[in-house]
Amino acid sequence: MRAIRRLMVRTVLPEPLAALGDLVTNLRWSWHQPTQDLFSAVDPRLWEEVGRDPVRLLGEVTPERLAGLATDPAFLGRVQATRDDLQHYLTEARWYQDHDGRGPQGVAYFSPEFGITHVLPQYSGGLGILAGDHLKAASDLGVPIIGVGLLYRHGYFVQSLSREGWQQERYPVVDPDNLPLVRLREPDGTPAHITVGMPGGRVLTAAVWVAQVGRVPLLLLDSYIDDNGPAERDVTDRLYGGSREHRLLQELLLGVGGVRAVRAYCRITGAPAPEVFHTNEGHAGFLGLERIRELVEERGLTYEAALEFTRAGTVFTTHTPVPAGIDRFPMDLVKQHFGGDNASPGLAVEQILALGAEDYEGGDPSVFNMAVMGLRLAARANGVSTLHGEVSRGMFAGLWPSFDEREVPIGSITNGVHAPTWVAPEILRLEEKAVAGGGWKDATAAVSDADLWTTKRALRQRLVEAARTRLREAWRGRGASEAELGWIDDVLDPGVLTIGFARRVPSYKRLTLMLRDPARLKALLLHPERPVQFAIAGKAHPADDGGKRMIQEMVRFADDPEIRHRIVFLPDYGIAMAQDLYPGCDVWLNNPLRPYEACGTSGMKAALNAGLNLSVRDGWWDEWSDGVNGWDIPSAEGVDDPEYRDSIEATALYELLENEIGPRFYDNDADDIPRRWVEQLRHTLTTLGPKVQATRMVRDYVEALYTPAAESSRSLNSDFGGAVSLADWKERVRAAWPQVSVDHVETTAVDTFERGQTLQVHAFVSLGSLTPSDVSVQVLHGPVDDGDNLREPVVTPMTMSERSDTGAYRFDGEVLLGRTGAFGYTVRVVPQHPLLEDGAELGLAALPA
Ligand SMILES: *Cc1c(COP(=O)(O)O)cnc(C)c1O
Repeated sequence: MRAIRRLMVRTVLPEPLAALGDLVTNLRWSWHQPTQDLFSAVDPRLWEEVGRDPVRLLGEVTPERLAGLATDPAFLGRVQATRDDLQHYLTEARWYQDHDGRGPQGVAYFSPEFGITHVLPQYSGGLGILAGDHLKAASDLGVPIIGVGLLYRHGYFVQSLSREGWQQERYPVVDPDNLPLVRLREPDGTPAHITVGMPGGRVLTAAVWVAQVGRVPLLLLDSYIDDNGPAERDVTDRLYGGSREHRLLQELLLGVGGVRAVRAYCRITGAPAPEVFHTNEGHAGFLGLERIRELVEERGLTYEAALEFTRAGTVFTTHTPVPAGIDRFPMDLVKQHFGGDNASPGLAVEQILALGAEDYEGGDPSVFNMAVMGLRLAARANGVSTLHGEVSRGMFAGLWPSFDEREVPIGSITNGVHAPTWVAPEILRLEEKAVAGGGWKDATAAVSDADLWTTKRALRQRLVEAARTRLREAWRGRGASEAELGWIDDVLDPGVLTIGFARRVPSYKRLTLMLRDPARLKALLLHPERPVQFAIAGKAHPADDGGKRMIQEMVRFADDPEIRHRIVFLPDYGIAMAQDLYPGCDVWLNNPLRPYEACGTSGMKAALNAGLNLSVRDGWWDEWSDGVNGWDIPSAEGVDDPEYRDSIEATALYELLENEIGPRFYDNDADDIPRRWVEQLRHTLTTLGPKVQATRMVRDYVEALYTPAAESSRSLNSDFGGAVSLADWKERVRAAWPQVSVDHVETTAVDTFERGQTLQVHAFVSLGSLTPSDVSVQVLHGPVDDGDNLREPVVTPMTMSERSDTGAYRFDGEVLLGRTGAFGYTVRVVPQHPLLEDGAELGLAALPA
């Protein structure tokens, strides 16, 4: 029988336990072990049964138990102490409060997904986990961030397997009343709603939920409300599902609706308006359009001045070097949603379309590219590792023709991970001791090799138990009876070298590389003295049959009775499983096709849990691998045949495992401790530990991007005077640019060139209606290739020396011939203005004809 109405009945906590409710709704519990221990003490068995979900715990605990706790002075004391500790965490001055005072009064951080805790399944993989870690680290540092995202009614799917090992997807309903969320309400108590216009006069309305992440509020927009028709209600149905149009509507709600939600939140709570807006990946890029619209319609700015002001305060982070990973929409679809009867008076649809146009060599005129718009709407942009910054500069170089790739204004900040979320409490305790003893390296007395090794073995044991439980569940799901599953009691061994591999399953991550030579892998698993064992997990995107085939291949391999005790595929990879997996692994494997892994963060989490990395030099590992903290799998980039390339890299992987990793791990001394291995762990914790932290990453964002963005938006702001004058100047420069030319270049006459010599260069340039202060004239010089192309030229400014009768200017500069060999130089004119962030910003440059 079907109920006609569904109600959520909430537990009423006895008054003395009210503080427990506060502890549940602040997600700091998700990375604060003492708070989790307190929840567990409410009813230890139930806590495990409800999957460590405190909302469910309080919903299902018996009233008798609660009444008992309400009169238990010891328990009440613990509740009070934990509540006081949270209050202290929320109010005390932290790093940002004691920093230089120049940073923004607020930052709005937009992301299509957030991975905060397993009870809030609003993420699919690394992008969401990173966004969650960014908010948590910002909270720990006291950085005033407001997160903005969507609340997906079905989140991402739950993965299980068919008997044949084919991925099955389930989308359980996520009920916000059963989540640690609070509805944003107007002062009169009614729910706060925001609206976004749609074509045909329809309106998309959304409620706003607040997830409190320590000090940081995360606003989640939810279209599942009665005001909406069925189509609008489904906009936030699930993460990364549906048609192009469905995706566009989600991104409109996230970007445009998200800015409106931030405005509502600040109005209602009195929080200061953000000075900086951070677009975490292109999906959230429409936020810039909404800010331009506000400035035009509400502040009377021109489009051009509004664009300048918006750009100055916007940071764009790109996360993928895989062209297929870039979000693109048909132009017509974007036109339909921003034009016609849904156009804003202050923002012409042509202006919007131009922002996402691929109007560069090799671009597709029929698509609207969200990353291109992201770059045009943000004065500051970055990739997520040094290598990814470099790859991104190449990938988007078409937007800055006439500039060298190195001059493309995209920098990089390497990702980090939130240690309190990802590091096992046992390791954190050792860490405290080690720090007290002078750091991991010098703390040998405080934390002996035996301490470290015993702890690692205990964590391996925990992983083995968790894997058996999950595997048994998986096999029941695949239709096996209990009688068939006795063998699972012997799966994995806490004394065996344990290798982890878990991540999403797009083809570039090559889940099945290790299966290249199955017999060789089998021999490694069954080695009589030095066996290895694997714990493997990962979800394929529901529309990616190639990924599902890889999972099936892996599952079938692992089903083989001969080796199934040494290799397991665990379904439904997510935060909860990850927290068991990383601490128990000795080696974390990553074998992407270089350079497609923008950063990768799972190996960082493994390292913080005293694990060593075995990885292709891609993403973060390319910059921080040092020969002791793990092993490099050589990349066969440049080998065009993908099969052959896989073969080379797989062979290298087997060889490392056979010849180096296995022997090192099993090289025990008389005390049964592999001293050299433990030495490598200490080295990893000492040197890599501090770098891979999300707090390091967020400090880098504050110093390199948020603070400069806040300062430049302030410099444009006194009544937007700066924005208006910068916009006017750009317009004047663009109009005058066709008249700008390098007419003639002269150098001192010499016959032979010798190293160490200085060449005088004189350039005669025409500037049309511009003046020398509007431009920078530069000499670019360096080695040239066979086609006379300058490779990585050095750029030095020239100085104006005279103006000729004809109105041309002479500029002088010098070139030091610093090296032997083929060498070249040229001269270039680029725009220059004190409020311009970067010489390449306008994409304009004049070179000799
Ligand atoms: C860290 C993490 C990721 C990211 O893994 P990569 O190897 O960086 O792709 C994905 N999912 C979960 C659950 C994670 O914890």
